[in-house]
Amino acid sequence: MLERLRAIDERIADAARASGRELSDITRIVVTKFHPPELIRELYRLGVRDVGENRQQEYSAKTEALADLVDLNWHFIGQIQSKKAKAVRASATLVHSVDRERVADALDRAEGDSPLDVLVQINLTDDLGRGGVAPDDIEALATHIAGLSRLQLRGVMAVAPLDEPPASAFARLHEYRARVQRVVPGATWMSAGMTTDFAEAIAAGATHLRIGSAITGPRPVHG
Ligand SMILES: *Cc1c(COP(=O)(O)O)cnc(C)c1O
Repeated sequence: MLERLRAIDERIADAARASGRELSDITRIVVTKFHPPELIRELYRLGVRDVGENRQQEYSAKTEALADLVDLNWHFIGQIQSKKAKAVRASATLVHSVDRERVADALDRAEGDSPLDVLVQINLTDDLGRGGVAPDDIEALATHIAGLSRLQLRGVMAVAPLDEPPASAFARLHEYRARVQRVVPGATWMSAGMTTDFAEAIAAGATHLRIGSAITGPRPVHG
């Protein structure tokens, strides 16, 4: 895994250089979903301090099993059920996937350290069933979050659609971030870029990359 990690970090550095970006403005999150806690421990030994999970139950089990890794930053990148907001709030450094008012309200109300950093997840596809707020509703959601005292809106997050070149999708995301910043000027972060499209995401201004299989290897089949 060390070799894969190093190879990806080199490609991140190359992409940053090519787009005139500072490497220090880019956080590489290793997405560890479906992998056992031991894999996260190994990543930690290799120096990784940011990991991402997208399923609530799995997330809670892992944060509990790895509670001794006190300086490990947990990123929650999946769907949030309002009822389970407390478990997410209790341990997440950054929640990437706030896509509706109800989720924002539940996170705001949940016990935990204050404030909690969040991103607005934006749907870049035409499929309304996908995760993320529709582009037309970005300002309304950002305004709502800005009014919550225990959440800090930091920026935007998205997954590139499968049927479109990632560069054009991420260019839209860049504009959507500017729209969020008209509501919350400090919301400068952009979480974008996975195994196959992180270079394009860096070129478009991504500050948080969510890279899974290129670093961890293939995910175990989930039963
Ligand atoms: C799984 C996942 C990733 C990582 O995907 P890879 O293709 O393995 O890099 C990134 N973001 C989200 C939201 C995911 O669910």
